[in-house]
Amino acid sequence: MLKFELFDDMNIMIDERFVKVPLGCPVCKLLLMDSDDHDSFYNFECCSACKMQWAWPNKDKWLVGWRPSAEMVIEFRQNRVSVPSYTVRG
Ligand SMILES: [Zn+2]
Repeated sequence: MLKFELFDDMNIMIDERFVKVPLGCPVCKLLLMDSDDHDSFYNFECCSACKMQWAWPNKDKWLVGWRPSAEMVIEFRQNRVSVPSYTVRG
C-alpha cells in the first residue's frame, strides 16, 4: 500500500531564474508544443509562429509591449488551425 510521508527537514533547491512556460501562447492562445515554442516564449513571450508573424517584423515595438489587435489574431488563428498538423502517407 502506498502512503505519503512528510519530512520536516527537507531542503528544496529553487532556481530563481526559472521561468514557467504556460500551456498556451499568450498572444494567439494556441498550445505551445515544442522546444521552438518554449525558446520563443523565453525570448518574446509568444509561440514561434507569433514570433515569425509579429515579433520579429515589429521587434522594436514588440519589446516595448506592442501586440497585434484582436482582429489580427483571429485571422492568424484561422489560418494556423487550417494547416494540417500531420502528414498522411498515401
Ligand atoms: Zn502564438
